[in-house]
Amino acid sequence: MENSYDVIVAGAGMSGNLAAALAAKGGLNVALLDRNEELDVGKKTNWGWVCGDAVANDHLKFIKSKISIDFDFPELDLKVDGVYAISPDLQHKLLFDGEGYVLNRPLFEHKLLQYAKKYGAHHISKFEVEGPIIENNKVVGIFGKDAHEKHTEMRAKVVIDALGVATNLRRKLPDNPYVDKVVDIDDVESTGRYIYDFDLDHEDLTYYDPKNALIHLNQELAPGGYGWVFPKSGTCMNVGLGVQKTSLQIRNKAMNKNDNLHSLIDDYVKWNPVVKNPRLRNDNNNGKGYWSVAVRRQLESLVFDGYMGAGDSMAMPNPISAGGIGPALVAGILAGENAVKAVHNNDTSIKGLWQYNLDFNEAYGRKTAGLEVFRIYLQSLNNEQINYGMRTFLTQQEAIDISYGRVPELSLASKFRMVLKGAQNMDAFMNLLYVVKAMKRLNAIYERYPKSPEQFGAWRQEVTKEMEEAKAKFKPKPI
Ligand SMILES: Cc1cc2nc3c(=O)[nH]c(=O)nc-3n(C[C@H](O)[C@H](O)[C@H](O)COP(=O)(O)OP(=O)(O)OC[C@H]3O[C@@H](n4cnc5c(N)ncnc54)[C@H](O)[C@@H]3O)c2cc1C
Repeated sequence: MENSYDVIVAGAGMSGNLAAALAAKGGLNVALLDRNEELDVGKKTNWGWVCGDAVANDHLKFIKSKISIDFDFPELDLKVDGVYAISPDLQHKLLFDGEGYVLNRPLFEHKLLQYAKKYGAHHISKFEVEGPIIENNKVVGIFGKDAHEKHTEMRAKVVIDALGVATNLRRKLPDNPYVDKVVDIDDVESTGRYIYDFDLDHEDLTYYDPKNALIHLNQELAPGGYGWVFPKSGTCMNVGLGVQKTSLQIRNKAMNKNDNLHSLIDDYVKWNPVVKNPRLRNDNNNGKGYWSVAVRRQLESLVFDGYMGAGDSMAMPNPISAGGIGPALVAGILAGENAVKAVHNNDTSIKGLWQYNLDFNEAYGRKTAGLEVFRIYLQSLNNEQINYGMRTFLTQQEAIDISYGRVPELSLASKFRMVLKGAQNMDAFMNLLYVVKAMKRLNAIYERYPKSPEQFGAWRQEVTKEMEEAKAKFKPKPI
């Protein structure tokens, strides 16, 4: 039948291209839909491929373990040794993530698309997806407009939603207890970034480091989020910041200011003393852009009858770093693999697709709920408290543990220092201990991710209870 496929992948971004590649590699008839022309594949909005473009090497290794693909310059624009988080007073620097790359995003996405096509996926460009076709409470296809603006319906045994954070597939699912249609605004960061060529005024690795990605924690510059300076090849940087809207409002009120995301990014660039004469690098109109990132645990279930989701459509970015490329790549691969199994088993019900939940949980997802609690805690601290915490509470090993979602063993030395420093600081330390315990509980809950949809309801209640408790205890308080 015309317009009928085994799998429709909606969105040819990081997750969608790989989902299509893996599903096609498994012998399925796959349509890969995206609103962009082929050369602009993966472009998120009219503002371009809005992203910091930093990705850990481990995630690229994961792709290579699943398909034979080699990445090199120019799609890997620059190798970085690590990612450093810097305290508001600029006195403390903690390594937060290991070796990785800053991508040339358009070229990287283009390469992924070539692999999807090589394995046999049908790429349909300039197609605007408008919503799911639902029959008997099951997703059986999508509708939208083709390149000639003609209303078009397509059917498939499985639809993979890889439309990114603004997905109009997940939002239009039938009401159901598995996949949430709405994400809390406090769990979303408004973000933006510029790509600048610049002259280096002087060397200062606190502000720009050609070998490392830098993250500036500062509740006045980037309330409820952080600013970043990621080096690119040449004297070029990807510079941007993210804010939580509630934190921005609180900060504006307290400081009697009226800043918005745009003014904050402009001020952040001016604040950086090593950047002289910044010039927008606007190839592909990709120099300046704004978009949103969800920073919570991925949606509790990534599947519904006839439906799977991968990447930002499922709120997969890391709750602390907002890094979403890695999980999108991992999820794309696992969604494609699991679609193959479900179609071959002739069962694309929620039960038939459930294994994808378990696979993503195992590969990445089980640490994110704990990280979300840590993020909620971080957003409740002002600059002074963050300085204090980075100076006193955390060792380098503990910072690494947190960033990898492991529960840190707060060192005896730091505990002893706390006891010496009196009641007020003990409070802050006790809060951190609470967070560490909550992370431990949540990691244990995710270790028991339900093996089938029948056990999901009770399990989900445990997660919700922990999250509600954390949000009630730690309110955004940037100033
Ligand atoms: C400012 C900013 C900085 C970031 N920095 C980093 C970083 O440094 N490192 C990191 O790991 N992550 C970062 N992220 C997050 C990262 O960019 C995302 O997690 C990643 O792009 C998710 O990939 P995806 O495939 O899920 O979705 P997307 O990349 O959003 O791809 C979705 C695709 O679907 C298409 N599409 C959407 N709607 C429709 C429709 N209705 N019809 C047809 N096509 C449609 C889009 O055009 C696009 O091609 C950042 C995000 C932002 C906004």
